[in-house]
Amino acid sequence: MAELFVDGEWRAPRAHRTREIRCPADGSLVGTVAEGTREDTEAAIAAARRAFDSGPWPSTPASRRGDLLLRVAELLERDRDTYARAESLDTGKRLVESEYDLADVVACFRYFGKLAGQHAGRVVDAGPDALSRVVYEPVGVCGLITPWNYPLLQVAWKVAPALAAGNTFVLKPSELTPHTAILLMSTLTEAGLPAGVANLVLGAGAEVGAPLAEHPDVDLVSFTGGLATGRRIAASAAATVKKVALELGGKNPNVVFADADFETAVDYALTAVFLHSGQVCSAGARLIVQEELHDELVDEVVRRAERIRLGGPFDPEAETGPLISAEHLAKVEKYVETALAEGAVLRTGGRRPSDPRLAGGHYYLPTVLDGVRQGGFAVTEESFGPVLTVETFTDEDDAVRIANDTHYGLAGAVFTMDASRAQRVANRLRHGTVWINDYHPYLPQAEWGGFGQSGFGRELGPTGLGEYQEIKHVYQNLRPGPSGWFRG
Ligand code: NAD
Repeated sequence: MAELFVDGEWRAPRAHRTREIRCPADGSLVGTVAEGTREDTEAAIAAARRAFDSGPWPSTPASRRGDLLLRVAELLERDRDTYARAESLDTGKRLVESEYDLADVVACFRYFGKLAGQHAGRVVDAGPDALSRVVYEPVGVCGLITPWNYPLLQVAWKVAPALAAGNTFVLKPSELTPHTAILLMSTLTEAGLPAGVANLVLGAGAEVGAPLAEHPDVDLVSFTGGLATGRRIAASAAATVKKVALELGGKNPNVVFADADFETAVDYALTAVFLHSGQVCSAGARLIVQEELHDELVDEVVRRAERIRLGGPFDPEAETGPLISAEHLAKVEKYVETALAEGAVLRTGGRRPSDPRLAGGHYYLPTVLDGVRQGGFAVTEESFGPVLTVETFTDEDDAVRIANDTHYGLAGAVFTMDASRAQRVANRLRHGTVWINDYHPYLPQAEWGGFGQSGFGRELGPTGLGEYQEIKHVYQNLRPGPSGWFRG
């Protein structure tokens, strides 16, 4: 049984608490893991503190830290089948998606491996009688808390830059999807990471995550997850004025103008929201379509949504998988119920599938809700499930106004064949990533920021204007065409 990884070794937790991890696709037992307590978390923090204060890692030359990350990337590639299978069993997602995710994880370690050591600092002119230099130093002990939707990728986005910069850390992955984080500890050790630099405590948020936000020996807490948890973490971290990075939710607009390429717009309307059954923070859950295109576009989206085939990780015909848990399925059901009570019109889905093949898993049909009320529950709250809402707009100003009418600001897209309009609208969208004639492409070298309540605290770029600027990544596909993700 997997245990806690502290100070370079696997240990038994103080209290013997276990959790069965079951595959969301069919309920089969994947494994049983031992979970830690607050005391175990404190022991892990102490190990990370010692490794930072007196271990070799923070003062290891940055380029050597980079070499280690490159070695990790090689080992991940060597073991990709084991990792991808473990990820699919924990999440229920298709094996091919876990393979794509693993490629992104490898790219992430490689990117930060190459970046380490490239920015040693700079000399600032202070006249002939002084030497003035600006240097970059690690923050210290990092508490890293991650969600279940892209388990290893979320971990990689935190672990790789934290290590590149010379920090030590305690990682708490989602309690629902621990297995790839367990595997990663062995990979980091094999790559030669000194004991105590990487520590892993499994367990629930209140028991293991909360102490990471509260403890005075943790210098930074980096969290990806829901808005409510993020608020709690920021409040706890305030007591010790920790550095805080929050990557939170999104209610992301997908704006389609009447002059968009029709096939491309339909294809991406589906991919934006039904990829991984909508369990994606940047999912394009709000389709905002120009009035004159509404009927034609929505009819086609509904027709194609009804053809999406659901299935487990190893079903070669499956196009998307289950929701992560029975609790999450109930939450999505409640979201749809509330949206319907508010006046939304159900165009398709809105229930669990009746196919007996899927009876053992947490499946929900791809759902389209038309006629939603602007500013209402359905378009402001995240469902984090396979649910698309449809709103309409009249002109460019109206599109921007509706798309920005959210307390989030994570991501969004615009579909139009008018290149000038595409850039104008992208400039006006208050969202951290804006795709043009595309949805979802991710580049490790581009910032992933969040406007509004989608988060804060990530690297703020080279302008020197620090926290007074938001960073937006605008990505334009210059050869728009269907992705073919869903076969149709
Ligand atoms: P969650 O907030 O429930 O849990 C995330 C992590 O926080 C888990 O490890 C959980 O155990 C831990 N946690 C829970 N309570 C805690 C507490 N009191 N103190 C410390 N840690 C605690 O989120 P989730 O359900 O795992 O993930 C879904 C959410 O994550 C969605 O809102 C989604 O939009 C968001 N998300 C955002 C991004 C992004 O990049 N912005 C990426 C993926 C997911």
